[in-house]
Amino acid sequence: MIQDGQLLNFVNGTWQRSAAGEFLDVHNPATTETIVRVPLSERAEVDAVAQAASVAWESWRRTPPTERISYLFKFRSLLEAHFDEIARLITQECGKTLTEARAEMRRAVENVEVACGIPMMMQGTNVEDIASGIDELMIRQPVGVVAAITPFNFPGMVPLWFLPYALACGNCFIIKPSEKTPITMGRIVELLVETGLPSGVVSLVNGGKEAVDALLDHPLIRAISFVGSTPVARYVYSRAAANGKRAQCQGGAKNPVIVLPDADMDMTTRIVTDAAFGCAGQRCLAASVAITVGEARNVFAEQIADAAASRKVGYGLDDGIEMGAVITPQSRSNIEMLIGKGASEGAEVMVDGRNPAIAGYEHGNFVRPTILQNVDPRSEIARTEIFGPVLSLINVQTIEEAIAVVNAGAYGNMACLFTSSGAAARQFRYEARAGNIGINVGVAAPMAFFPFSGWKDSFFGDLHAQGSDAVEFYTEKKIVVERWPKEWSRHF
Ligand code: NAD
Repeated sequence: MIQDGQLLNFVNGTWQRSAAGEFLDVHNPATTETIVRVPLSERAEVDAVAQAASVAWESWRRTPPTERISYLFKFRSLLEAHFDEIARLITQECGKTLTEARAEMRRAVENVEVACGIPMMMQGTNVEDIASGIDELMIRQPVGVVAAITPFNFPGMVPLWFLPYALACGNCFIIKPSEKTPITMGRIVELLVETGLPSGVVSLVNGGKEAVDALLDHPLIRAISFVGSTPVARYVYSRAAANGKRAQCQGGAKNPVIVLPDADMDMTTRIVTDAAFGCAGQRCLAASVAITVGEARNVFAEQIADAAASRKVGYGLDDGIEMGAVITPQSRSNIEMLIGKGASEGAEVMVDGRNPAIAGYEHGNFVRPTILQNVDPRSEIARTEIFGPVLSLINVQTIEEAIAVVNAGAYGNMACLFTSSGAAARQFRYEARAGNIGINVGVAAPMAFFPFSGWKDSFFGDLHAQGSDAVEFYTEKKIVVERWPKEWSRHF
């Protein structure tokens, strides 16, 4: 997957040098060392990948599902055997801690396991005698060649929200990983190759906007899965749809958590600290706004400020580190700019993580945990996705007001509530306008056998990643209405 310090594309069963004229360096966000160069593949290379995938599809779709999943069983074993190696790659190119990288890979493997159930999951339905002697069947068939375009923050897990289901359902799959973190998926595709998967069934094309546009426009590509920021998700969804493709596009987030006065404060603080600062806040399910109700404010603010200030920040491969770097210097300066903006909008910077000195990694892209207090719910800091370790505190007097703040946001990826009241929990679950809900849970990440939901500006499409939605997305429904009159059976 790497030749002379340059990442290769995987096309028609072989690793090939890209003909790209432009390359980007992939950096370790903590040490800032350059790890490898990634090509920005051009339109013609995407065409070659799509053509090869389309040829491969003719026999892959005829391969029995039981045989298709036999590759996934081998793939799962290889992922387990190389689990720590891949987790280390994630930390090196993405900046999160090794513990977080391992957790990411655990969720990735879970999707492979669930997709192994495809012989049951992709079954159709039928009804006999819709009219006398006439039967009707619904059969699921693969869609064809499908592609996924993925973000930097979960370079191992997000592509595997899609790949195992796409293959198991009989599709050929093209992955375009993030150009910021492309190494992990390269290594994962190397492992897939070891399973003996036929050429063209999986392809990897490195690149940026030009490669994405080529995927969106290619007539042989039938479906697009996208995960990334909201403006790009909206763009990908529109362009894919204009070209007649199926599309599922997951966007950005601004996730609120409500803390009621009856919550177990120690547990709540521990969980919200991890939800806000885990993966340095670069999770689409990161808690970004904490809305305290009534007297919950004082204890919660004090405890979370202590937890934020004492979180150990450093290189994710070093022992005892609880929070790693953010992805790029631009990302760091954007986060610091938004903290400054919050202050200028009237918020109090209770814990200030700007310009930290991280011993041994002075040039790394670090921002320490930051807490802003007395944030106005209408201010920009309360509404914009920061994608960094920054938690804004808002205080209101009732649960109704808190839910109103949740529902006023443009995003709808996740919303959480901390309480010991069943009635409050039920009210929140019923009224909160978000796709993933946590009750006394801070990162409500659906298991692989549930769809990964997301509403409003966090999702464009109707079928989500994972679980039964993935099977719906990666199959076409064919309806057969049959009549076989008895009198035609002349031979017996
Ligand atoms: P991004 O939107 O910058 O990039 C995502 C992908 O789109 C990459 O593969 C990139 O090459 C491509 N891309 C970027 N700009 C493009 C353009 N102008 N035209 C065509 N393609 C383009 O996102 P990111 O910074 O890599 O990831 C972080 C974002 O992803 C955050 O907003 C986060 O909330 C979101 N995210 C969402 C989920 C979810 O489940 N909803 C999960 C993970 C991340």
